[in-house]
Amino acid sequence: MADNQSKKKLKIGFYWAASCGGCEIAVLDLNEKILDVVAIADIVFWPVAMDIKYKDVENFADGYMDVCFFNGSVRNSEQEHMAKLLRKKAKVLIAFGSCAHHGCIPGLANLSKREDILKTVYNETASTNNPDNKQPQVKSQAKEGELTIPEFYGRVRPLDKVVEVDYYLPGCPPPVPIITNALDAIVKGTLPEKGTVLAPTKSLCDECIRNTNQNKKMPDIKRVYEIQADPKVCFLEQGIICMGPATRSGCQTRCINGNWPCTGCMGPTPEVSDQGAKMISAIGSILKIDEEKKLSDEDVQKLTDKIKDPIGTFYMYGFSSALINRKVK
Ligand code: SF4
Ligand code: SF4
Repeated sequence: MADNQSKKKLKIGFYWAASCGGCEIAVLDLNEKILDVVAIADIVFWPVAMDIKYKDVENFADGYMDVCFFNGSVRNSEQEHMAKLLRKKAKVLIAFGSCAHHGCIPGLANLSKREDILKTVYNETASTNNPDNKQPQVKSQAKEGELTIPEFYGRVRPLDKVVEVDYYLPGCPPPVPIITNALDAIVKGTLPEKGTVLAPTKSLCDECIRNTNQNKKMPDIKRVYEIQADPKVCFLEQGIICMGPATRSGCQTRCINGNWPCTGCMGPTPEVSDQGAKMISAIGSILKIDEEKKLSDEDVQKLTDKIKDPIGTFYMYGFSSALINRKVK
């Protein structure tokens, strides 16, 4: 690539904070489209794939990167430091994937106190061998000198609770068409107003081919293993909780196509502030055992007792950004 051309290329970066790293793998899911990315952009920062040190990033001029894709929520001091540093070094910061967007699975750790998490990991698991009852310390002395490790915070935060975020790419991981559309918009300079979630605004039910009955009734509540789900019928009508009504579309109904109910990874639609609450309300309005019979409180209790993991069901991806986002004993 001639020097002139390479100067015009976008400079992009990727970072991985508190997450499983699946969003980084989604970049590889671009397959041959990655060649289009390489044609228009130089990847200048990607710790999972290239050797780069903190000081290299610190030496970038402010705004040096055109775009930085930040995946993962913020769980410790290193991630917070990197979020603040990358915010300075990138013109556009994108919360990439559900963990950065809403906290996702790491956010479920907000159900537990920091001390209890450390106790479980360092004292209680079957494979733990820690006779001196040691726990990690931010600073410790070794014969080589003082060692420091990141501080493990008391809670998980989505990226926009730490720094200002320009755009959001939802999903666990973000679907390839959503990523390529975003890259297109970046290259063409057609990004919408800041703060936008770069995905369709309608609910998943809007694009679901099983959405054939506008007057859905949910006859019961069942777990996935309890029935052989009919692949043509809406999950809710079969008694299986499907987060479609409260979830943004754009994933091409990946799970539904595999005969698995939506668990909500694309996050809520724009008019919904709390995905779980919206879904509970949707279920409340369609749950019906018997047209004639009004449900007593006891009936309702029996039904809701069938939801074995309410937070994992309704807030699998959005607990740390939900209206109620802590468990207080
Ligand atoms: S609830 Fe689920 S299965 Fe039913 S129409 Fe919506 S996305 Fe499809
Ligand atoms: S169906 Fe739901 S959980 Fe599955 S990919 Fe789509 S939004 Fe995510």
